[in-house]
Amino acid sequence: MINIVLFGKPGAGKGTQAEFLKGKYNLTHLSTGDIFRYNIKNETALGQLAKTYMDQGDLVPDEVTIQMLQSEVDNNPQSSGFLFDGFPRTIAQAQALDAFLESKGQKITATIALEADDEILVQRLLERGKTSGRPDDQDEEKIRNRYDEYNQKTAPLMQFYQEQGKFHAVDGIGSIAEITERLSNVIDRL
Ligand code: ADP
Repeated sequence: MINIVLFGKPGAGKGTQAEFLKGKYNLTHLSTGDIFRYNIKNETALGQLAKTYMDQGDLVPDEVTIQMLQSEVDNNPQSSGFLFDGFPRTIAQAQALDAFLESKGQKITATIALEADDEILVQRLLERGKTSGRPDDQDEEKIRNRYDEYNQKTAPLMQFYQEQGKFHAVDGIGSIAEITERLSNVIDRL
């Protein structure tokens, strides 16, 4: 069983790569952003709560996010491994995930970061905003706020996973296929 955390700034390509990796390695893809957006679309209480944060480019509170993620894992008992995309995004989430997996006799195998320059990513998101319909992709100020959130709350996770000897990084600039290959090279050596 392998459990991978796909790590990177907004727009780094986590979702795109997850689509390829989940099939190749038979992993259950859990994207917290996608799950929140699904809840918003279906107007659930969770969606209504998450929307107030997401539209501003703020992180959804840990308690809510952690609980949601855990129930998604619990809903997939047959899974042969998870690909976490957009989670964890804070140290508290990472600690909760470690404890939760440990309680199931599992652990994170590796965290792989997709690295790319901020300015390239902001442009990518603005471009995506033209077609994605996502309110958080359409306003440069909200995009910048997502990077502030990342720098303050998510970036410290690199050290968290480095200390556990689980942190890997690949260059996130290139064609989709090239980047899938770089990620696969890391996973194949785990
Ligand atoms: P991106 O990586 O492009 O920002 P996501 O779809 O991963 O897109 O996330 C969109 C938004 O969903 C985030 O800005 C945040 O508001 C919320 N979100 C997603 N994952 C988390 C998380 N682990 N913790 C808190 N908020 C989250």
